[in-house]
Amino acid sequence: MPLKDYLKKRNFKKTSEPEGGKPAGEELIFVIHKHRATRLHYDLRLESGGVLKSWAVPKGISMNPEKKHLAVQVEDHPYDYKDFEGVIPEGNYGAGEVMIWDEGIYKPVNAGKSKEDNEKIISDGLSKGRMAFILEGKKLKGEFALVRFRGRGENNWLLIKARDEYADGKIGNEDISARSGKKMNEIKGV
Ligand code: MN
Repeated sequence: MPLKDYLKKRNFKKTSEPEGGKPAGEELIFVIHKHRATRLHYDLRLESGGVLKSWAVPKGISMNPEKKHLAVQVEDHPYDYKDFEGVIPEGNYGAGEVMIWDEGIYKPVNAGKSKEDNEKIISDGLSKGRMAFILEGKKLKGEFALVRFRGRGENNWLLIKARDEYADGKIGNEDISARSGKKMNEIKGV
């Protein structure tokens, strides 16, 4: 879902969410937001093609390879959303607190030599409905896969932890921002 859907849903005079941004780094980045909207959920965002491909994960991330968590693809978010932590004001789309729950870099399994190679591997994987990737975050590490949930509409995916040395590990600091160290209740509008 394109970035213009993101832009359409928001009034940037009323929300401090970012409007754009261009990737500068040599590595692909990811961020996971903890978002207390109407319902608490987590948003997985993976840099791809200059934007952040985004999935809402109602149950959050499981380190147990047996637990496949639904991940609903939503509109692409601008690259600068990687830095957004704060409050979306009431009356706006997604109103509520947003925490940078985890952040870091990622690459596809069987990564290529360059960022461009990896972008290609990732976009091919996503078009095929199966994309395996490795997170190097502050909280999350190891291999995960996004697999299209067949028969449930093209936006429904499953997020699955692969069996590796990090499988079944504990996730620390569940309610602490990976960026600011704040708890959800301490996050206020900036
Ligand atoms: Mn959200």
